[in-house]
Amino acid sequence: MKIRDILAQDKITISFEVFPPKTEDAYDSVERAAAEIATLKPDFMSITYGAGGGTSDYTVDIASTIKDTYGVTPLAHLTCVSSTKEKVHHVLDQLKEKGIENVLALRGDIPKDGRTPEVYHYASELIREIKDSGDFCIGAACYPEGHVESANKSIDMDYLKQKVEAGCDFATTQMFFDNSVFYSYLYRIREKGITVPIIAGIMPITSASQVSRSVQMSGCYMPARFMSLVDKFGDKPVAMKQAGIAYATDQIIDLIANGIKGIHVYSMNKPDVARKIKENLSEILK
Ligand code: FAD
Repeated sequence: MKIRDILAQDKITISFEVFPPKTEDAYDSVERAAAEIATLKPDFMSITYGAGGGTSDYTVDIASTIKDTYGVTPLAHLTCVSSTKEKVHHVLDQLKEKGIENVLALRGDIPKDGRTPEVYHYASELIREIKDSGDFCIGAACYPEGHVESANKSIDMDYLKQKVEAGCDFATTQMFFDNSVFYSYLYRIREKGITVPIIAGIMPITSASQVSRSVQMSGCYMPARFMSLVDKFGDKPVAMKQAGIAYATDQIIDLIANGIKGIHVYSMNKPDVARKIKENLSEILK
């Protein structure tokens, strides 16, 4: 099923994310985690794409298992970084062959050696290529606090508009920890005439080390209310996990209470975290 049709239904949707293994020996454990998350019956599951390129086939493999064995709609990610035109068409052909209809088109993070994408420089170019290559539902990334490389939020929103004009059907946000940042972003992009569904991306932080990693990668703002949890429980792994899941749950409930219908949880191959969040929302999602 196409995600744009899922999002058009009059209901709250919840999706989870998995990332493929970097090496073959880890494949079975990732597939098990993906399977366990799929049994929670999310509205769809997204499978990231290693912009390093080496593990790209696993994205399609895991997406295919989720769909065929568990009946969950997959969203396969694809990046400009490490993609030639041939590679993109190879992946799209595989997706068509396996009946996978949804692609999240991204630029990808620039590798540490600074190599920039050679063929598709920005996600909008990749979106255009996918659009011209078949009947896919296409998603994109968006950034309530602006992308780390962009000069300012307004320019970044203009580039989101470019992605929509290129053919993207919906966008999922980068993680954020302060819902008011998301609400004002939504207001501003609607003012710019961007009307596609925006899915709120929520990252349950389950360890103190994840905090610095997340800030470094995304540059996102950590409110004092969140940092006090980390200060208090950061050195108590079980308590930190419980507090992180509670914080993410609280964010999601506030989003739903404010009329947001699409929630994406960065569940990061952690079925226990996905399960707990789903349980915490059991009545709310009815
Ligand atoms: P773009 O939209 O291309 O934007 C990149 C930068 O260029 C931004 O600063 C933007 O403002 C600017 N820009 C855009 N268009 C233009 C233009 N025409 N001219 C000049 N500047 C422009 N990474 C992975 O490697 N694999 C994944 O599976 C993955 N999944 C993700 C899922 C989500 C929901 C999100 C939010 C991010 C994901 N990422 C993933 C990370 C993402 O690849 C990085 O954030 C990357 O740095 C930007 O990707 P983008 O698609 O937003 O890029």
